[in-house]
Amino acid sequence: MPNYKTHLLFGFLFFIALYAIFPIANKGILFLSALCLFIGSLFPDIDHKNSKAFKTLRDLIIILFSIYIIVSLVNDVPLMLFMLFVWFLSADKIILFLKPKHRGITHTFTSSIIFLIVLSAIAFILNRNISPGLFGFVGYLSHIIIDKIKI
Ligand SMILES: [Zn+2]
Repeated sequence: MPNYKTHLLFGFLFFIALYAIFPIANKGILFLSALCLFIGSLFPDIDHKNSKAFKTLRDLIIILFSIYIIVSLVNDVPLMLFMLFVWFLSADKIILFLKPKHRGITHTFTSSIIFLIVLSAIAFILNRNISPGLFGFVGYLSHIIIDKIKI
């Protein structure tokens, strides 16, 4: 299995090739596009429990749900502490249970299209520009291609 460094390296090569074809003049859009391409090149491995993408998402879910428990139970501190205790004990098992199998749904062309649509929509709403979505899509495809040829 190629590790995240391999995916980032090939993501970088794809970025250079794509930038040569579609140069972006606006430095902010260029930075966002590069960021989206690198996120796209790592995102499919969100289905692997030892990947950086999975660990980052897992930690984000644990932090956000902890904040949700604290905010929603701020008037009942004993219940809040109990819920946080239960959440910290069970979070890993719940998240692993919900994780799709490795190289399943997140490693398909269909999921790369969904990634393209979601990123492009967010980028268009924020900047009236879909370049970050297109670059993210290319990063996502680079991941699937590298996994298929098993470098
Ligand atoms: Zn992969």
